[in-house]
Amino acid sequence: MDGNWVLDEIAQHVDVNTLEAISSITIPTYTQTADHSTWVGSGNGKFSISAAYDLINKEDTDLKGWKWFWKLEIPEKLKTFIWLILHNSLPTNQLRARRGIATSDLCPRCNTCSENIKHLFRECNKAKELWSNIPMSHLMRGDLDTPNHVRMSLNLRSDSNIKLNTDGCWYETNGRGGFGGLFRDHKGDWIMGFYGMRYFSSSLEAEIWSIYKGLEIILDRKPTNVTIESDSLTAVNLIMEGNPSHHPQSVLINEAHHIMA
Ligand SMILES: [Zn+2]
Repeated sequence: MDGNWVLDEIAQHVDVNTLEAISSITIPTYTQTADHSTWVGSGNGKFSISAAYDLINKEDTDLKGWKWFWKLEIPEKLKTFIWLILHNSLPTNQLRARRGIATSDLCPRCNTCSENIKHLFRECNKAKELWSNIPMSHLMRGDLDTPNHVRMSLNLRSDSNIKLNTDGCWYETNGRGGFGGLFRDHKGDWIMGFYGMRYFSSSLEAEIWSIYKGLEIILDRKPTNVTIESDSLTAVNLIMEGNPSHHPQSVLINEAHHIMA
């Protein structure tokens, strides 16, 4: 009755991934969208023979899930480094001790905790010190205003300008994805941010979800004049237009469109 899925009844009959996929289906909060059937193989929710053919022919290998990553225009050594981190293969002292090539798993910087990836980059006091010394506003101003980011304006009441950048990503192999956004003031300084992980059915859903979560914060905190930037033109157009009948994300799109209106 509180607008959430009641999964207890079916929990013992289906696996964890299915439960997670169901709980990630958006339930309307602000709008009413009637149930409808949709075809996930195409972008607009309508069935076509060519989309079905493409779906059947999709490569389903781990390599495909990483193709986007290797295409990134960043230095090769950085790609290798990130790949090692994401595969938990960075030779931290914890890993080296486990493999018998180090005598201690302690972090050589603070000497108090086991040096694993999380500690190395986030939890170690030395890492925290480093992060807090990075001039974030300067970095963000330079890196996020890329020309292929599309914008939409949300004028609630106007005084100072706030910018929201959102992004979403999706790992096709296991359906997991991430979303996030950050709010900056007119000087480009950080105000607040949000991020999370979630089960998605497409990268478009991850992009729309990121904008939607940003819109919920706007709805809650009622800032005066917000410009939203996303790198997905499709997501922005769908939200601006609203009412995409038969679209797999129609509930989510309508919810976001309703907040925008
Ligand atoms: Zn440490």
